Amino acid sequence: MLESPRVSGPPQLLIVEDEANIRDLVSLHLESEGYTCQSVSNGSDAFELLKADPYALVLLDVMLPGMNGLQLCREVRSGGVNANVPILMLTARGEEVDKLAGFQGGADDYLTKPFSILELSARVAALLRRTRRLTRTDEQAIPIEFDGIRLDPAKRSLQMHGHKIPVTPHEFRLFYQLAANRGIVFSRERLLADVWQGEVFVTERSVDTLVYRLRCKIEPDPAQPAHILTVWGEGYKCAEA
Ligand code: CA
Repeated sequence: MLESPRVSGPPQLLIVEDEANIRDLVSLHLESEGYTCQSVSNGSDAFELLKADPYALVLLDVMLPGMNGLQLCREVRSGGVNANVPILMLTARGEEVDKLAGFQGGADDYLTKPFSILELSARVAALLRRTRRLTRTDEQAIPIEFDGIRLDPAKRSLQMHGHKIPVTPHEFRLFYQLAANRGIVFSRERLLADVWQGEVFVTERSVDTLVYRLRCKIEPDPAQPAHILTVWGEGYKCAEA
């Protein structure tokens, strides 16, 4: 799998938003904070850019003309130079069901409009920090192999029987944490702390959603998981050999 780029110089962000006033406000503000921003107003243009160049982070509006944010998110996650890019979704709709759809589609974080520009930049900074920390920590960690599965932290890559499986940074971290400690049960609370590392905008439901997403990628039958097991009333564990 292709890795997110090592950041040298200002991080390059992609803003995908069809409302010009929001797009300009966000772009101007983030550039004033030292980021380099590229902005587009529809999903198709964004998709072309995301196929071509690696970005440090994507701000993605959900309701877009053409390909919407959820479709775009799934496409980006399915492979390519930005398969692991942190994605912060923006939406005017705040219902749980939309958040769930966003997280299942591979978004890393979520912000509901109207949002304050300060909150937006705090979330952007937190996501970038987390991605860098994940990379740094994982460079010191060792690859794990079992049952035809290979997890390589230095490349943040997951292979199953020789096939690369695109995973987000969160999904990788969750799987690596469980796989490195097979048979040991981790509570949702512990996984929240380990996988999200202090981010405040997640709940224990986020763990269930992330497990669901990961199972859809790694389990032959996600309803009868063989690798990531639910331990009722306690949490999750990776099956022992
Ligand atoms: Ca919109």
